[in-house]
Amino acid sequence: MSSNSGLTRLIVHPNDYPWGKVGNDSLAGRLTKNASEPDFKFDPDQPYAELWMGTHPTNPASLYSSPSTLLSKFLQTDSNPKYLGSSKSKFQTPFTGKKGSGSEDQVQGHIPFLFKVLTCKQALPLQIHPNKDLAKKLHEQDPEKFPDVNHKPEIAVCLGASFLGFAHFRAYDQIVQFLTKVPEIESLSSDVRNTIQTFVDNPTADKLQGVWEKFLKLSDDEQVVKGFSKRVDKDGVIAFENFTGEGFSEKEKENLVKAVRSNKKYYHGDGGLFSTLFFLNLVELKKDEGIYVGADGPHAWLEGEIVELMAISDNVLNVGFTPDSDKDDPSLVAQTVTHQSKSPDQLKLTSQKFSKSTQGNSTVYKVPFEEFSILKISGDDQIKAFDGPAIAIILSGTWDISEQEAETETRAQEGSVYFIGAGTSTSWNQSEGKEGEDGGKGEVWIAFYDADAPKEEVGQK
Ligand SMILES: [Zn+2]
Repeated sequence: MSSNSGLTRLIVHPNDYPWGKVGNDSLAGRLTKNASEPDFKFDPDQPYAELWMGTHPTNPASLYSSPSTLLSKFLQTDSNPKYLGSSKSKFQTPFTGKKGSGSEDQVQGHIPFLFKVLTCKQALPLQIHPNKDLAKKLHEQDPEKFPDVNHKPEIAVCLGASFLGFAHFRAYDQIVQFLTKVPEIESLSSDVRNTIQTFVDNPTADKLQGVWEKFLKLSDDEQVVKGFSKRVDKDGVIAFENFTGEGFSEKEKENLVKAVRSNKKYYHGDGGLFSTLFFLNLVELKKDEGIYVGADGPHAWLEGEIVELMAISDNVLNVGFTPDSDKDDPSLVAQTVTHQSKSPDQLKLTSQKFSKSTQGNSTVYKVPFEEFSILKISGDDQIKAFDGPAIAIILSGTWDISEQEAETETRAQEGSVYFIGAGTSTSWNQSEGKEGEDGGKGEVWIAFYDADAPKEEVGQK
């Protein structure tokens, strides 16, 4: 395979955010050993939170055959723009070359999505991602902090046995239970309690905005949060014994306790505990289950390993599980999100056999966003060409891979990352005797944009 091929190995890099799992405990860390430069020095004491796969200037991929050549540069050279397919005219590049948004040679050649492996041991900051209008405004005000003008709808698919995360608002009656059954609420200021009462009396989106904003303004060191955490830590699920109905099964109560204990350990007293636990769904994903978060949906991932896929953007507003000095304006955040309830079932992604798979060993997820889709290969398969770019990572196992017409195969190990250009059919075969961790079932995950995939399989594109 030359670098002028439609199947091109990449060098990609991790991020060391402190919420990541550490060293070999981290899937992102283990994958990095092979995903990064050949002379990469693995540090067993460092957190490896995310592995980034894409062209975003914050942490861009380059070519394995030519490490100084960025993928975005490659995709604007010679005849290579063809590898972007028809999407290159559909998606505006979100970078201007101005401060904060990459160098002059990174204003073209972008793929419309950013693909990550994410591994967290503690909560990520409670966050929202600005929509396109707000992203534009914020970029003009502070281009260093908001490097691009794009929105950032995202999906997550669970890679381990279980993943926990907060996402979108709970059903209003569940929020009302927290606000009326948690005794520590009585210790909040009369201002907060009055706002709670107006929501409890008449639970509407407007009233929810008012009350959530008050909770977002709690600090990172609240006595009332500490008191609540101490009680839940001691009492376990008993602390929620009078919570009833949907959202409060025994298993869900156990997860609430888990979330409180994790918060107590890592963010003792941070008001983010109340503004997530009381207001957002605590969703548990099992292996291969996926969830989406809309461009206006508050979320805070809590624990586990996922592949995450989003529109190409690095803009975020943080309002909890982070020091007060790093928190963004709670009023801006409260005004930006949609205060609509969505149940965990509504947020979960459906998946099915992919019709572009020749041997039927690939599953594709239906994604309600236009910029991307995702598929998993779990056995020997050929994938027909996409009209759009794709990025693949070998998550487990050893695979012999090739462009379908090519005569030579490449042996790819766990952690290897490849760019697949539009118009390129690929072949994926697990090599004998080199089996993946869970009983010989190797996995390859591919993030892609495909203008001509069946909409009923990949979602509206
Ligand atoms: Zn996010």
